[in-house]
Amino acid sequence: MIIAIDGPSGAGKSTLGKMLAKELNLLYLDTGAMYRSVALAVLLEEVSARDHEEIAEIAVDSEIKLDGKPDKLRVRLNGENVTDDIRTNEVSQIASIVSTIPAVRKELVRRQRELGKASKTGAVLDGRDIGTVVFPKADVKFYLTATAEARAKRRHEEDKAKGIKTKLEKTLGEIIRRDERDANRKHSPLQKADDAIEIDTSEMNLEQVFERMLAEIEKKTP
Ligand code: C5P
Repeated sequence: MIIAIDGPSGAGKSTLGKMLAKELNLLYLDTGAMYRSVALAVLLEEVSARDHEEIAEIAVDSEIKLDGKPDKLRVRLNGENVTDDIRTNEVSQIASIVSTIPAVRKELVRRQRELGKASKTGAVLDGRDIGTVVFPKADVKFYLTATAEARAKRRHEEDKAKGIKTKLEKTLGEIIRRDERDANRKHSPLQKADDAIEIDTSEMNLEQVFERMLAEIEKKTP
């Protein structure tokens, strides 16, 4: 079984993806972590974000490993543990720039399909183009949304819990900028698949969204 979860940043995709993977014993694939890993490699190698050819080469040459149980995931880039390093604001912005490069997308989409298909029980993938490009025939597709304000507030709370000091307005600005770039890029923009189930999570808590998603999965896969 393949479950696709798409939507803008901060809508709850990864938290819910992990919860579903755990509940249904599926592999959880955080495709954003792969774009983030390429972005980190670009930063470490001090390559200009404008040098698309060099970035595409970096994407092809980077070994990215996602392993561990859904609630204890580890990301390794060329053998180094980069689980925390890929979560900075700088990496978020660079990730949304490198993800506009078609050759980068081609390489990562190929890997995502391979990883998803290799899992015997199936997989939950979260990203921006899972239901439209990576697995257009996914068994169940979700499109999670929430207002930019609700998403910024959640991100802000998460940062606070991690001891990171940020201003809510700054987080909101970053979310809006990233949304704009992800939705307006030429290749595989963030888009709801026609057959995706859209859930606006602005006014819902995690448990409510989780129950709703499980019910939809049960309906589609009796
Ligand atoms: O999901 P996350 O916020 O970690 O993703 C980081 C960035 O990677 C996104 O802003 C987006 O530009 C890119 N991305 C993408 N396609 C995916 C997953 C992530 O373009 N399937």
